[in-house]
Amino acid sequence: MVTQAIDDSKTHQAKWDEPLIFERSTPGMVGHMLPSVEDGIRKTVGSIESLVPEQMRRIQPPKLPEISELQVIRHFTRLSQMNFAVNLGTYPLGSCTMKYNPAVNEWAAALPAFASLHPLQDVSTAQGSLEMMWELEQWLSEITGMDSVTLQPAAGAHGELTGVLVMRQYHKCVTGECTQRNEMLIPDAAHGTNPASAAMAGYEVVVIPSNKEGFVDTDALKSAAGPHTAGLMLTNPNTIGLFEKNIEEIGGIVHDAGGLLYYDGANFNAIVGMVRPGDMGFDVVHMNLHKTFSTPHGGGGPGSGPVGVKQNLAEFLPVPRVVKKRDGSFDLDYDLPRSIGKVHGFYGNFGILLRAYAYIYALGRRGLKRASETAVLNANYCGYHVSRIPGFSLPYSRDDPRMHECVVSAEDLKANTGVAAMNVAKRLLDLGVHAPTIYFPLIVPEALMIEPTESESKQELDALIEAMQRVSREAFQDPERVTSAPHSTARRRLDEYRAAHPKTLTLSWRMHLERQAEEGEN
Ligand SMILES: *Cc1c(COP(=O)(O)O)cnc(C)c1O
Repeated sequence: MVTQAIDDSKTHQAKWDEPLIFERSTPGMVGHMLPSVEDGIRKTVGSIESLVPEQMRRIQPPKLPEISELQVIRHFTRLSQMNFAVNLGTYPLGSCTMKYNPAVNEWAAALPAFASLHPLQDVSTAQGSLEMMWELEQWLSEITGMDSVTLQPAAGAHGELTGVLVMRQYHKCVTGECTQRNEMLIPDAAHGTNPASAAMAGYEVVVIPSNKEGFVDTDALKSAAGPHTAGLMLTNPNTIGLFEKNIEEIGGIVHDAGGLLYYDGANFNAIVGMVRPGDMGFDVVHMNLHKTFSTPHGGGGPGSGPVGVKQNLAEFLPVPRVVKKRDGSFDLDYDLPRSIGKVHGFYGNFGILLRAYAYIYALGRRGLKRASETAVLNANYCGYHVSRIPGFSLPYSRDDPRMHECVVSAEDLKANTGVAAMNVAKRLLDLGVHAPTIYFPLIVPEALMIEPTESESKQELDALIEAMQRVSREAFQDPERVTSAPHSTARRRLDEYRAAHPKTLTLSWRMHLERQAEEGEN
């Protein structure tokens, strides 16, 4: 194997003693030199006060840091150097599809005709943008095997909520059994957002256990499905990375009971161009454009979770719908009396839609399929090699192929050396690899969820495997080295309790000042 050297004595994250940007603030410092807006306004309308109704005026200006442009640039560049990113190294964070986002997508999204468009502009002046949205809807319909798609939801979880509300509306308007059908069936391997979305839409969550192979237990499903079932939310490929073998039977059980089938398509990256949820009998599906269709994600930034539905549910989708008129022009249709309404301001996260459009356009039918094939190959390559490293195993259907990701267990490693999945994750940071997702799904003890995506080359995958081999060797020879990791990152072990506890978690400068004041009083 020819791999990049992994030697933690050579890998060092930059370390800056960087204060908060508010602490850098100097009264009177500015980062721009523009003609005074106030002067301009005074010249045209007399006074600023007359422009803004009194009740809408701020009592005090917002407390923003006063800082120069160069200070801002340095501040954020330093912070970025103390962070890990997909443009620095392998980022196999399972269930997140941290693929590389080609720069050409950014170029497309930054084109001035798109970037400076106003959402309230007359549709006659935004025809190209509406056409882009309309075409993207068509493409996503075709890719998922659905009849209609809404681009409005801003994330996967938001798509789930939208889809579940559509299901509820169906039971309200079509079956008339909205009150009676108050249960949503959700397998125990599901992403936490599934039960959360169902609960937000007012459903009781009924958990369906997995069987020994890691698939939905169809006997348990049969006994749970009935006259109270509104539907089933299924993730496929599932969280273990396996393709549900009994998909037809599962669908039959739920449909026969009068429920609808919801497909969590966040793991779509493994199956684009191979199989379609619509052909598997599903009624509703959401996709994560910020996972599968290569748009940046992370840090809670803008995402997009379009929802596709079969024809009989199309009338319930959010308004406005983008429509193509007979003369070939495009319009926005608000006139859908049974729609669930709006789920997002305007038309969704438009910039994200553009990036996905550019990505799909660039890859085309064959390219999309190829990307999925490579993602699956990479996940299986990692699963095969990592599960043969001492201390690691591949629980559930060891010999079944994985799809987008593989979930390995460090249970043996922990039993034999005391080194837990958490320690492995921390040690990998020293070796220039972002940690996989850990302790998820809950059904795998000491889980390490590895999703390499199609972006990584064989050299990079070999380096990742070699890093895991090294951590295993160390665990047996020098466990202390692993349990005290990370050693070469800008920050050592974080206090995860303090970082998550409502009493200590400080989310804003204002909260920080309030806390300080409180402490001063005590
Ligand atoms: C990521 C993910 C989600 C949630 O998507 P967000 O965009 O983070 O809200 C839901 N289900 C599965 C299976 C996922 O992997």
